[in-house]
Amino acid sequence: MVENLVIIGSGPAGYTAAIYAGRAQLQPLVFEGFSAGGIPGGQLMTTTEVENYPGFAAGVQGPKLMQEMRQQAQRWGAKLIIDDAIAVDFSQYPFTLTSADTLEVKARAVIICTGATAKRLHLPGEEKFWNNGISACAICDGANPLFANADIAVVGGGDSAIEEALYLTKYARQVHLLVRSDRLRASKTMQNRVFNHTQIHIHWQTSPLSVDGDQVLRCVQVQDNRTGVIYNIAVSGLFYAIGHTPNTQLFQEQLELDEAGYIKTQGKSTATNIPGIWAAGDVQDHIYRQAITAAGTGCMAALEAERWLSEQRASLVSFAA
Ligand SMILES: Cc1cc2nc3c(=O)[nH]c(=O)nc-3n(C[C@H](O)[C@H](O)[C@H](O)COP(=O)(O)OP(=O)(O)OC[C@H]3O[C@@H](n4cnc5c(N)ncnc54)[C@H](O)[C@@H]3O)c2cc1C
Repeated sequence: MVENLVIIGSGPAGYTAAIYAGRAQLQPLVFEGFSAGGIPGGQLMTTTEVENYPGFAAGVQGPKLMQEMRQQAQRWGAKLIIDDAIAVDFSQYPFTLTSADTLEVKARAVIICTGATAKRLHLPGEEKFWNNGISACAICDGANPLFANADIAVVGGGDSAIEEALYLTKYARQVHLLVRSDRLRASKTMQNRVFNHTQIHIHWQTSPLSVDGDQVLRCVQVQDNRTGVIYNIAVSGLFYAIGHTPNTQLFQEQLELDEAGYIKTQGKSTATNIPGIWAAGDVQDHIYRQAITAAGTGCMAALEAERWLSEQRASLVSFAA
């Protein structure tokens, strides 16, 4: 049997694609994942309060939001399987996908929503304060009352580290930018914005070693890489801005990826370089990386897949006639 549409991944992009495809009566099959590239439900399963997803005036817990999306996808006929896709063959049509439980599936269309994983440093003490002082997303967590008028550290020296540091100055008293080397990798314009900002203090050639606190984060221990001197910076927040890893290993030989490994999509669409395959969410977006943008592109991918499948069917009918 050939599936109409297989969706890989069950974050906001995957479930939204499943809801739209289900409503279009495609009966999509969703590999929700198990352990590759995150857990079923995606990145929001690892957070508490989501305050910026529209429709929840009082905020919503990440796992609750994902559970609602899952149930909505099921209600519209999506077939959900908690399993990782471990191999794909996009060179022959219909496409072939193999899951970890050795289920081999043929598909007329595929939407890839495998997301990305924020890089972490795994410092001693990090687990205790993850989501409770430590984060990898200033836009998601910066407005948390924990950080209001507090001192915060940001780790990184690229464009995203600078963006995060600048964004956090809206809330924090002081932002300590911890830069491993003696220069920033960001554009000159961005660098100047940081150099001229009175609330940002750059600690050059400095690496974080560990974090400490009680109920909440209280300090980050750092080392000056030039002198070896170790000291503490009192902070209520620590933000990692050291990059993300897109979950695209599976597609390396199959689809066009950019230099950072994100799936390339064409223009304003979610189409990849292979007709019949779309990519949505963080796996193709290194700029916005938000639940709402992932859901938005999941919707686009499902609509594009539905139109493409209809066109294929129409051309088969006219060919037969
Ligand atoms: C701690 C934290 C807090 C955040 N807070 C917010 C917030 O407040 N607001 C906001 O808008 N955004 C927030 N974000 C960002 C948001 O979670 C992401 O932008 C969003 O989840 C991306 O959705 P996605 O569907 O693209 O991928 P993901 O959520 O990353 O989901 C990817 C899915 O793919 C699956 N998968 C991966 N590989 C495979 C495979 N081989 N086979 C099958 N399945 C696979 C995974 O199991 C997972 O289900 C936060 C992120 C983190 C980490």
